[in-house]
Amino acid sequence: MQHFTQAEIRYIEDCYEDFIKELRNKFDSERLTRIEKAFRFANAAHEGTRRKSGEPYIIHPIAVAKIVAKDIGLGATSIVAAILHDVVEDTEYRVSDIENMFGDKVAKIVDGLTKLSGDFDSRQALTLKKMLMTLSEDVRVVLIKIADRLHNMQTLESMPANKKTKIAGETLFLYVPLAQRLGLYTIKTELEELSFKYKHPEEYNQITYFLHNQEEKRNYLINEFIKPIKVKLNDEHFDCEVTHRLKSSYSIWQKMQKKGVSFNEIYDILAIRIVIKPNPVISEKRQCFDVLSIVTDIYKPKPDRIRDWINLPKVNGYESLHVTVMGPQGKWVEVQIRTERMDEIANRGFASHYRYKDITTFENELETWIERIRDHLKNPDADAFEFLDDFKLNLYGTDINVFTPKGDMISMPQGSTIIDFAYEIHSDLGNKCIGAKINMKLVPISHVLQNGDQIEILTSKNQTPKLEWLKFTTSAKARNKIKDAFKLEKNKHIENGKVIVEEAVLKSGAILTSNNLKKIVGHFNLNNKDQLYSQVGMGFIELTNLNEILGRKSENKLVKYWNITFGNKKREVIEETEEQEKKTHKKTKNKIDRKNLLY
Ligand code: MN
Repeated sequence: MQHFTQAEIRYIEDCYEDFIKELRNKFDSERLTRIEKAFRFANAAHEGTRRKSGEPYIIHPIAVAKIVAKDIGLGATSIVAAILHDVVEDTEYRVSDIENMFGDKVAKIVDGLTKLSGDFDSRQALTLKKMLMTLSEDVRVVLIKIADRLHNMQTLESMPANKKTKIAGETLFLYVPLAQRLGLYTIKTELEELSFKYKHPEEYNQITYFLHNQEEKRNYLINEFIKPIKVKLNDEHFDCEVTHRLKSSYSIWQKMQKKGVSFNEIYDILAIRIVIKPNPVISEKRQCFDVLSIVTDIYKPKPDRIRDWINLPKVNGYESLHVTVMGPQGKWVEVQIRTERMDEIANRGFASHYRYKDITTFENELETWIERIRDHLKNPDADAFEFLDDFKLNLYGTDINVFTPKGDMISMPQGSTIIDFAYEIHSDLGNKCIGAKINMKLVPISHVLQNGDQIEILTSKNQTPKLEWLKFTTSAKARNKIKDAFKLEKNKHIENGKVIVEEAVLKSGAILTSNNLKKIVGHFNLNNKDQLYSQVGMGFIELTNLNEILGRKSENKLVKYWNITFGNKKREVIEETEEQEKKTHKKTKNKIDRKNLLY
């Protein structure tokens, strides 16, 4: 350990001062004292340690606390936890020390953060699972973790090359979707840009070069575009701020990849944002639509490119109107229209909902999402990768909103089907589901839901869950319910099968020794006795030639007699029933499918 120089000590104090000065008029003195205490403690704990860049280590937790306070807008408890976030991981102190000094809440958050730290290498699936488990306990832990990652990305330059690529990849895989889910758009965009820069440096440089090259021309175009809008907004007494921004180089690159086009063919690089300071007498929604109508009076909108996130906000709380219009010189321009409140939610996500007190609806939706995560985590059998597979759709896909017959809105992951919806409402509805009516039209249970569908589930009391349903379910809830139903049924078959096997072996005159059992299992090419029992129980296997299987000569007259009289009779009965089934229900194929699905 090498003690800091006077200059370094001064630098630390300056950084802290720079961070705390903006909080002075936001927090009361009790809170400010707590934050100061955390800083003094962390500063002493990290004394003499440095980051890869050579900077005193404490600069990092200060920067993270700043992101937590400024960009995410969290309160004093989270700020204190952010300042202390690496103390347990990197110094001699323990969680219990934090608890003694800063209380239970802070200690819990720091503990959560410590558990999420470390090098994860190829175990990203496991990390994600851990992260989501933490998320469902205290969302602040994940928010601070995202801030931690943002600062690490901002200072990635001093890392060795192979680490840069790895960390950037992990950021794209884990942190970007989480930030998006929690509505932290500004942070999400910055994380994407930085990951792109370190993961694909050549492409990044090329696109930023192009963007820079056209800057002058673009600024001219944008100003020409905005002018008439500003005039009209003024005439109509709207108090608006009109800003323009560039699409991020990452989103441009993604579009180039997806559509297989060159930089010059990307049409909506230009985007402007109109943020309304709303007139309190008129509803925000109406003012947004009025502004939309002003814009489309001046410029022709691209058909199908109006996105209304105001009537149907995204699950992370995002509200805005988006329209793409034809600007001067034939360039498409994206226009985003929203109020100041919506803008803050768009930029800072989750935390800003508290400020605007419309927390109930948002919390319900966030709660639904977290509930869905809990459902996934509940399945104890799933290993990390299976979990990831199950969960991918839910994390990366955007949600759609659908309606019950009574008009209640329900958010579902994109790709959800009728059966997912039925289980989402109630497990009985799922178990008995035979199809649905969507907007008055009949659809099968495998039908994929579209945004805005109104769904009436159709049931039959004779219906039972089918294993093949698993092929078209995406939600953990539905999958677990279906699997549960089958576990029960499977156990029933095993019990029945066991009785049948025991009786059959006894009747053949043998005893059910483990050796005999092995012979039977081997004869049918099965893996274990449970498999044998359940196949027998389901009627897939008939034990008609036990003597042969067990290698016994049927010398026993009694056995012979049984085989001739009862054995054959039994076989006839079975064959007859199967014939009947084939004719009436065509169940045989179904049975084979089931067998494959079970094992
Ligand atoms: Mn850290």
